Amino acid sequence: MNSGPGQETASLPPAIYFDGTSSRRRTVALAFADQFEINEDERPLAAWSYADIRRADSPSGTLRLTCLTAPALARLEIRNAAVAAELVSRCARLDENVPGRHGVAAIVGWSLAAAASIVAVVLFGVPLAADRLTPLVPQVFERRLGDAADGQIKALVGGKVCGNASGQAAFSKLVDAVRKAAELDISIQTAVLSTPIPNAFALPGGTVYLFNGLLAKAENPDEIAGVLAHELGHLKHRDSTRNLIYNGGTSFLIGLLFGDITGSGALIFASRSLVTASYSREAEQNADTFSIDVMQRLGRSPKAMGELLLRVTGKEADRGLSILSNHPLTEDRLKRMTQEDRPPSGPPLLTAAEWASLKAICNAKS
Ligand SMILES: [Zn+2]
Repeated sequence: MNSGPGQETASLPPAIYFDGTSSRRRTVALAFADQFEINEDERPLAAWSYADIRRADSPSGTLRLTCLTAPALARLEIRNAAVAAELVSRCARLDENVPGRHGVAAIVGWSLAAAASIVAVVLFGVPLAADRLTPLVPQVFERRLGDAADGQIKALVGGKVCGNASGQAAFSKLVDAVRKAAELDISIQTAVLSTPIPNAFALPGGTVYLFNGLLAKAENPDEIAGVLAHELGHLKHRDSTRNLIYNGGTSFLIGLLFGDITGSGALIFASRSLVTASYSREAEQNADTFSIDVMQRLGRSPKAMGELLLRVTGKEADRGLSILSNHPLTEDRLKRMTQEDRPPSGPPLLTAAEWASLKAICNAKS
């Protein structure tokens, strides 16, 4: 029950509340009842069960709270020490780790918040809202988005991280070579995931995943190096962050999962929204340009990646995909990479033995 005016709600100092769906800052009255009651102008806004309340990151002098059953972005800020102490004494699970569902909620919540904030821009007829917003997203936030997406990706593909010793050593060597040539100014994490989907992609914040299914179809290290360089290109241009803002959480994840590398894969779902959730043609071309550039710096073949793509997708023009797909056609990509091809001038990126180890990275024994 919400108490009437002038009762216990009035006896506690006010606090600040964000409901998690709008950016509005509300001054609220609090009441310790069966649940923790949050009221505005004597109307109940929320009632949080003490067992569900968790501590959120906050500056010193403020107790910032979140609630498992509230929207992921809902926050209550208490500055009064007495109220904070009373609440802490009632919330036995205040400092328990927020469970995994929050990862999903975080993606959806942040996506909603981002979407809501760009609506105003879109209303003014600017189609490039995501382009304008992306540079404003701080790196630490990007990394959080990536972390949240990370758990989802692993759940979606049911994949485990591969890494027997010899395979991991070869993978690290290849990644290091590409990373150095790419000269990115952000730190990156890379891993091979065990799933038959032939794909690779980059998450906001700097994680690149290579799926074992793509590794299985690759015939030499240059093919994989080109793909890794392509993904670093997406990171450099912050394409995944832009797409996440543009498309929202779930379609972004599914789009990434089936969209990058082999964009037409999204057609499995025969859904336009999922097809468009993959990167734009322009973003793909820029990532390809980056890949070509990196491979040339390594003195290796840029067209190897194109050959791998063609092996995975087959000829796309025959299937009439050019109209539906946002991606450049695989054969067009290969043609472009072939034009940029030079005889190798750098040393092989891996020895034959290392390449064999990398191909077997998901095997139980190294
Ligand atoms: Zn791509």
